[in-house]
Amino acid sequence: MISSDVNDQLRRAGLRVTAPRRSGLEWLGEHPHATVKRVRFGVAQALGSVSTQTVYDVLAACTAAGQVRRIEPAGHPARFECRAGDNHHHVVCRCCGRPEDVDCAVNVRPCLTPSDGHGYLLDEAEVVFWGTCQAFGSDADGPQ
Ligand SMILES: [Zn+2]
Ligand SMILES: [Zn+2]
Repeated sequence: MISSDVNDQLRRAGLRVTAPRRSGLEWLGEHPHATVKRVRFGVAQALGSVSTQTVYDVLAACTAAGQVRRIEPAGHPARFECRAGDNHHHVVCRCCGRPEDVDCAVNVRPCLTPSDGHGYLLDEAEVVFWGTCQAFGSDADGPQ
């Protein structure tokens, strides 16, 4: 992703273009599912240094504007990605917490039908598939 795209993306979302926002989105575009710590590392590479608070602010603003999605697998730190608003799901490793994207197999929200919706107008099912990644799995001969 090149800088002008990120500038446009920020403006379209109604966000002022700042160096940390630009660097944050650029870096996150190439490193999906990054933790705050990792995003700070990425932004600092571009800007020299950046405070953790600034990175939190960038991610909060971009998440609120729908440009970034925050996922928070239970027991693991929150992670962020630029792939927002498309109802994709995640597989998460129980051991190392690494998430991978999984396209929704149904493509209509919510992609699961509850046995009883209690009259709620349902718009989303939060789906996380838990398992063990190749690095931690015992099946060394499994598919790559
Ligand atoms: Zn793992
Ligand atoms: Zn994802």
